[in-house]
Order: sequence, then C-alpha cells, then structure tokens
Amino acid sequence: MSAARRKIVAGNWKMNLDRAKARDLTAAVAARAAEAGATELVLCPPAPYLDSVGATLAAAATAVALGGQNMLDKSSGAFTGEVAPPMLVDLGCRYVILGHSERRTLFGETDAMVNAKTKAALAAGLTPIVCVGETLEEREAGRTADVVTTQVRGSLAGLPATDVEQVVVAYEPVWAIGTGKVATPQQAQEVHALIRGLLAGLASPAVADKVRIQYGGSVKPDNAADLAAQPDIDGALVGGASLKADDFLGIAKAFG
Ligand code: PEP
Repeated sequence: MSAARRKIVAGNWKMNLDRAKARDLTAAVAARAAEAGATELVLCPPAPYLDSVGATLAAAATAVALGGQNMLDKSSGAFTGEVAPPMLVDLGCRYVILGHSERRTLFGETDAMVNAKTKAALAAGLTPIVCVGETLEEREAGRTADVVTTQVRGSLAGLPATDVEQVVVAYEPVWAIGTGKVATPQQAQEVHALIRGLLAGLASPAVADKVRIQYGGSVKPDNAADLAAQPDIDGALVGGASLKADDFLGIAKAFG
C-alpha cells in the first residue's frame, strides 16, 4: 500500500433528501469530520442543493469537500437542463462524479462521453471521480476484466500522465450498487489491482501508484474495514449509507 495515497470517502446522495435535510446532514458531517481522521470527505448532493450545502460547509469552516454528481462537457450554451463545469467550480465544487453506472445505464452515457466529460472537468479544475464496473451478467460470463479494461481505457483515453494523476477512479460493480450485495474484499482488490495496472500502462507505474481508486457498492460501516485493509482500495464511493451521518462517518473512520 502506498502511504502517499490519502484515503477518500465520497457520499453520492443521488436524487434524495430535500434542502433542509441536505443542510442538516451536511452540518452533522461537518461537525464530526474529525472522526474521519486523515480520510478526505466529499459530499455530492443533488445539483439544486449544491449552493446551500456549499454554504453550510463554508459556515462550518470544514475541509469536507463538495462535489457534483454529473456535468456536461461544455462550458455554456443551449443545453437545457444541463450543468456546466465552471458552474460547479463557481459553487465551490472540487470534485465531480462522472460515468456513474446509473448515468451509463439510464441515460446512455458511453465511454466516449465520459472521456469528454473527464477532460472538461480537468480543464475546469475539477477532480473527476470516474466510475467503472461490470454488470452481474458480465461477471458471470467471466468478462469483468474485459469490461473494466474497456471502460478505463475509453474513459481516460488521450489524457496526459499529469492528468491521469489527478483522476480518482471508482470501481463500482453494478450488481453491488444499492443491492446490499457487497463485493468480497478479494473480488474488489483483484479489480483494483487490474485498474492500477491499466493506469500504469496509460501513464506510468509512478503515476498509477499515486491515483486513488475507490470501491463502491453497498459499502456500510460493518464491511468497510475489510475493504479498507486491501492494498489497492483507497476509499469508498458511498450511496445509501451516505444519507446518514453515523454510517457515512463510520465508513470514513474505517479508512482513516
Ligand atoms: C453508488 O451509488 O455509487 C453506490 C455505491 O450506492 P450504494 O452505496 O447504495 O450501493
């Protein structure tokens, strides 16, 4: 395990909560952020609540970071309903989740689209959290390595090594997202090691050693420690459990 990789636990709130609940959860996480130790914390609320969550974080003078859940790869223009990278920056975001499996399966996002968004995020000064992961059908067909390889290469195509170094990759097996079915630490580590190898090929072994690779998929406080013990698992992207401060911080603590 590289001591140089700071662990990162991000909460993907998806399309949940209302403005008051988002503010309360933010305040609770900010007030107890020290429980996460050295682990970096990121909150990714729904876009309409970014402003108030950001203001709550600012008022708490906390290091907890703000992130978007998605964005378009254009900086402005006639794109009704979309969010531009500079808008996320303007709202105080440092991170943006890209290529989440829900975006890929429900909204038709391809690796080429994720690649364009990744480049646009980096150009705007945002750190992309690039999601990859196989479906149950693909795993059962023995295609996990192929699928993840294609997604990583496609999503990060054409990035110079200096940009690859900035990216956070989230390995999220689709069959584990929101299902309560977590990958075993061994299953996750195997894919994380594969991803690090791919990053070494895309950039260099030294760069790959610096990239943080999160696991996502039904992470809870009671399974986080076994995942955190794996050498290539550098944090978690958390959905359901990020909606409760106790659970989110319990996971962060396990990575601390
Ligand atoms: C996610 O949406 O990225 C996720 C991992 O969800 P959950 O933790 O609920 O499985």
